[in-house]
Amino acid sequence: MAKPPVMQDWPGLIEAYRSWLPVSSTTPVITLKEGATPLIPVNSIAERLGRGVKVYVKYDGLNPTGSFKDRGMTMAISKAKEAGCEAVICASTGNTSASASAYALRGGMRAFVLIPDGYVAQGKLAQALVYGAEVLAIRGNFDRALDIVQEIAKKYPITLVNSVNPYRLEGQKTAAFEIVDALGEAPDWLCIPMGNAGNITAYWMGFQEYKKAGNCQNLPKMMGFQASGSAPLVFNTTVKEPDTIATAIRIGNPVNREKAMAIKSSGNGEFLDVTDSEIIEAYKILGQEEGIFCEPASAASIAGLLKRKAEVPENSKIVCVLTGNGLKDPDCAINNNDASFHTNLDPDIQTVAQAMGL
Ligand SMILES: *Cc1c(COP(=O)(O)O)cnc(C)c1O
Repeated sequence: MAKPPVMQDWPGLIEAYRSWLPVSSTTPVITLKEGATPLIPVNSIAERLGRGVKVYVKYDGLNPTGSFKDRGMTMAISKAKEAGCEAVICASTGNTSASASAYALRGGMRAFVLIPDGYVAQGKLAQALVYGAEVLAIRGNFDRALDIVQEIAKKYPITLVNSVNPYRLEGQKTAAFEIVDALGEAPDWLCIPMGNAGNITAYWMGFQEYKKAGNCQNLPKMMGFQASGSAPLVFNTTVKEPDTIATAIRIGNPVNREKAMAIKSSGNGEFLDVTDSEIIEAYKILGQEEGIFCEPASAASIAGLLKRKAEVPENSKIVCVLTGNGLKDPDCAINNNDASFHTNLDPDIQTVAQAMGL
């Protein structure tokens, strides 16, 4: 009998893509075997588009801490370790803090995480606490938290691991490699939510590097989506008080603004905003019709694709990035679903059968 592929053979993305990354034989590799996430066909979305279009989701919510941030963090923390650093710091809407905490712990470093008090999804906060980070919740939004950690990283021997750290983007670009490796070519469109716009920048780097090396013939159109209440890149502005149910992209002044705008002005990208209700609609479609549970920020990629439906080229291949796992934000799930949930039932067979409609 043929031997099945063994997941344990996957060495983590640094080893898998070593020659594409700024690491040497002496770089200590801090890994939780991140990467190698599935590319899943989503026919319910494809059917809504029609005209022979194929749609896949890159389910990066299946990374070790439940978001794509692990791709960048394995690099950032490995390089910090190589440089002899003993502590890292980040500002975070939640996923960066969860990831930084886990990787710093594995690397034997302290992690300090600044979060906007009251605007971090429960699951993410729980992770940072479980991984033993020092969590500092400030009365202010993400943008203010980032200003503070940048100053602290300048003044003290602590490494900043937000996406201004170039190693983060290097690690994150491997998601583009995986997509091309799986499809045998680049997709026609890459749909992705944007917060600080590090991830769209990283994907763009990845596709360009692969094309230059001859691993794909074309580059995808980069379709970046933001929540309407928090869309500084769509409207080319700064949003003082960003507001959206998608807390992971509740960012008013993106740190990678210039890199994102360069993608747009090169003619290879288009940005659009999606409302919270469009995000929730896409979130529900994925759950109810595909069995895929992502966090609201991730659903912005599907919401944006559906909004751009009329412009999707015939017979094209589209990949939507699902950046984070739905379990991160249980409050959103419990408040936004169409399930039948019968509560407070008497514990007897007749009552249960009746509630079942039997
Ligand atoms: C961080 C994050 C984003 C935004 O990524 P950027 O690189 O900041 O644009 C989107 N979705 C989720 C789930 C995230 O954690």
